[in-house]
Amino acid sequence: MSAREQYLEALGIELWKSRARPAGMASAGAASVGAPVIEAGPDEPLVVPEEWLPQPAVTAGGSVAVAGAPQIVAADEAAWEALRAQVSGCTRCELCKSRTQTVFGVGNRRAELLVIGEAPGAEEDRQGEPFVGRAGQLLNSMLRAMGNPRETVYIANMLKCRPPGNRDPKPEEVASCLPYLQQQVDMIQPRLMLAVGRIAAQNLLATDTPIGRLRGQLHHFGTRGTPLIVTYHPAYLLRSPGEKRKAWGDLKFVRAELARTRAAAAGPAAAGAADAARGVDTGLRT
Ligand code: URA
Repeated sequence: MSAREQYLEALGIELWKSRARPAGMASAGAASVGAPVIEAGPDEPLVVPEEWLPQPAVTAGGSVAVAGAPQIVAADEAAWEALRAQVSGCTRCELCKSRTQTVFGVGNRRAELLVIGEAPGAEEDRQGEPFVGRAGQLLNSMLRAMGNPRETVYIANMLKCRPPGNRDPKPEEVASCLPYLQQQVDMIQPRLMLAVGRIAAQNLLATDTPIGRLRGQLHHFGTRGTPLIVTYHPAYLLRSPGEKRKAWGDLKFVRAELARTRAAAAGPAAAGAADAARGVDTGLRT
């Protein structure tokens, strides 16, 4: 079984792999000629081009560069360290009293995709890194299946400290912590944010709209108006595996949106091709 198939299987997506196509029959969707076609069920073919799994290259500066990623001048080390120090000494809300440590965020500071969860859980509070528990393992599989493996993206939470007993964040905690996230967004300048879970999505978008209605749309976050897509939290998907198919649709939307913004930056011809690809490949059109 190929790596891609293993990742899709980890998402709980059933695979019927690589039926031979009759000669001369065009493949559906945006896949390039010869790309494998993976079907997730009789009613919804998933076209997963090989190029969805880019090989990240480590740059001279030590960060991970992904083909097609924006050439952003990353904020300098000093600015990152200043923000990290500010967060680790933060006493803006009562969560500072119960935390083991702050959980700042991790990943590629030049990432085109910024993934935002709700808040650290017990394991994250212990290790100081977001999404390291079971939900984190599923998130890693989702990211890899999408073609943006964990090491190529940046991952952070809306809250940098664990709410005791994993209770929902209080509005004043969100208000205290969001400026840190905005600064991370300003420094990374991602093309796209992916909010995982209802709590992150509703707070980042300042809405009480149900997550089911927030999915499948392009939203915008914060002072830069950074594009944002919503999907289910991996912990929810672990409890409700039947929803993984919808999450896979969200990931295809992310994939298509990244391709569209890359192409828009590259010029009109590339943008047209990306739009055509998006039309057949997102699985989210009505
Ligand atoms: N859930 C989150 O929202 N964030 C984490 O870091 C871990 C679990």
